[in-house]
Amino acid sequence: MKFATYEYRGEVRVGLVQELENRILPVPVPDMLSLISCYDDLKSSIGNNFDPIPLDGVRLLAPIPRPRNNIICVGKNYRAHAKEFAQSGYEANAKKGAEIDEYPAVFTKRPQSVIGPGVTIELHPGVTSEVDYEVELTIVIGKSGRNILRADALKHIWGYTIINDVTARDRQKNHKQWYLGKSLDTFCPMGPWIVTADEIDPENVQVKTWVNDELRQDANTRDLIFDIPGLIETISAGATLEAGDLIATGTPEGVGIGFRPPKFLKKGDVVTVAADGIGVLANPFG
Ligand code: MG
Repeated sequence: MKFATYEYRGEVRVGLVQELENRILPVPVPDMLSLISCYDDLKSSIGNNFDPIPLDGVRLLAPIPRPRNNIICVGKNYRAHAKEFAQSGYEANAKKGAEIDEYPAVFTKRPQSVIGPGVTIELHPGVTSEVDYEVELTIVIGKSGRNILRADALKHIWGYTIINDVTARDRQKNHKQWYLGKSLDTFCPMGPWIVTADEIDPENVQVKTWVNDELRQDANTRDLIFDIPGLIETISAGATLEAGDLIATGTPEGVGIGFRPPKFLKKGDVVTVAADGIGVLANPFG
């Protein structure tokens, strides 16, 4: 099932998306985090007793517009991307011949950086002049846990969404730690909704990015270096993952700095990221 957060007639609500029927069925919860927490109890009654709303008549917001915690992200998790990043000159401390890390690189983005479909990614003139895109399959945690073993990891996933891990490459490089380059306001487009875990095989999701009409990224999550159960085991070791926490699993080859010369976003570009079985998320830049 697909669940969206949307605005309709001035109210923000959560609903079940029925794409083919072009409609949303409102769900009686205050927000997505409440739905995730009460899902097992609500599941059988979802869609009952509420009149559908036309999907094209609502404004979709990020499915979790203001996450409780920073968005946890994994860097360098596809071989070809690890290589293009190391060779780009934008990776601080890059070591030749050692593009693939022994342990996953984990960093975070601020909750305040989240925006929804269609919202403009800001230019931030004077702060950065090298803005880049990164499509990422993103895990939504359902069942909280600490020291989750990889064998149990999938049981903790409620669903999946898409994040565009927008990055100021100059700040990422200059500050070594990636937080500043990754957390600018509007640098985390998310959406268009969350698809529940029962509908997705996370090890076979095709992810893509277009800048305007040009296809830039086109890869499959089967090529992840650190797989999803392993990431959950690593990230939850000694640190509790909570319902609603988000883990972006990394981006494949084809980011702007992978080109010679680099292809940074330009004012007026539209960046579209997509994941098969989930949907499409487009945001203008400017
Ligand atoms: Mg990324």
